[in-house]
Amino acid sequence: MPHTIHAEPLRSLCRDIFAAAGTPDDIAAIVAESLVMTNLFGHDSHGVLRVKQYITMIRAGMIQPEQRPQVTKSFGATAMVSGGYGFGQMGARFAADLARKLGAEYGIAAVSLGQTTHIGRLGEYTAHIAAGGLIGIGFTSGTMFKGWVTPYGGRERVFGTNPLSFAVPGPGDETLLLDFATAGVAHGKLVLARAKGTPAPSGMMLDRHGNPTTDAQLLDEGAVLLPMGLHKGSGLAMMMELIPTLLAGHRPISAPDFSFGNPTLLLALSPQAFDDSTDFAAQVAALKRRVKAVQPATGFDEVLLPGEPEARSHAQRVQAGIPLPDAVWADLRELAEEMGISR
Ligand code: NAD
Repeated sequence: MPHTIHAEPLRSLCRDIFAAAGTPDDIAAIVAESLVMTNLFGHDSHGVLRVKQYITMIRAGMIQPEQRPQVTKSFGATAMVSGGYGFGQMGARFAADLARKLGAEYGIAAVSLGQTTHIGRLGEYTAHIAAGGLIGIGFTSGTMFKGWVTPYGGRERVFGTNPLSFAVPGPGDETLLLDFATAGVAHGKLVLARAKGTPAPSGMMLDRHGNPTTDAQLLDEGAVLLPMGLHKGSGLAMMMELIPTLLAGHRPISAPDFSFGNPTLLLALSPQAFDDSTDFAAQVAALKRRVKAVQPATGFDEVLLPGEPEARSHAQRVQAGIPLPDAVWADLRELAEEMGISR
């Protein structure tokens, strides 16, 4: 039975756990907010499941909880940001804010984020750019520990799960948000499957001998994740090993001088800087309507837009609360107890 909890008490529990581990209050609040928002959007793999991992990383010196991001190089509409190995959510917010400002000024901007720990849900940051009326594009690579994804046709780990995201501003505050890992399934979803004791989705993993498996427990026994979309996803994953990685001053996971992190590149494009005779938002709204009007195929009830599953989850979970697997709730309770946080 999952433990269901509303967003606010969950947020304050996570904030107190981070604060008790030496995180300044404002940073603890931002990271807790970001993780709980991710659960509200239905991506439990990148939500409060991560609290235990982040605390372990603080204790191991891998996250410096008090560090704040800084611009290390800037050149016109481009900039490099260092997260200083503080919380990735802080660095990614800062980089998105900067991309949004530079994009508004120059019509286009590209900001890389290096020396960053796990940023969580990439779509949070592209959506922030789109909320400013710009097109937000995000690429992320890297890993906290090791790679998971094999190139198409192989059975060895070479790539991270390397998410990409596009956020397009629509009318009002409506954003069309696409955000996914280039692995067939995000590694966090398998960690979640393992926590729940459920099998992994089929067609997403190979065991260490190169045979298909759905046993998420094999993750620690040499299993590999497959890229999404066969050779096409494999090619995308490879591009992501290079573009955000090198522009953020990191090295691909497979390189001998790899250092851990979640290097990210955020782009911002102002539609008005291009064809200003087009009502961009109206065109976005019209395409959404045409896609929604498509007749469903056999086995489907309707056609969904990118971002629609997340918006529905958000509406439902704000009302009914967030169902956490027992193992995740037990980890949070254990951390709270250890840190003398009473609830
Ligand atoms: P996913 O496979 O659930 O795909 C999500 C995307 O597909 C969303 O844009 C969603 O709106 C869209 N979508 C889902 N069902 C749809 C449908 N029926 N019709 C139309 N669109 C649909 O996502 P994922 O690959 O599991 O990634 C989950 C999250 O994990 C993302 O937020 C990603 O950024 C994050 N992630 C982060 C890292 C990292 O290193 N920080 C690594 C991997 C993934």
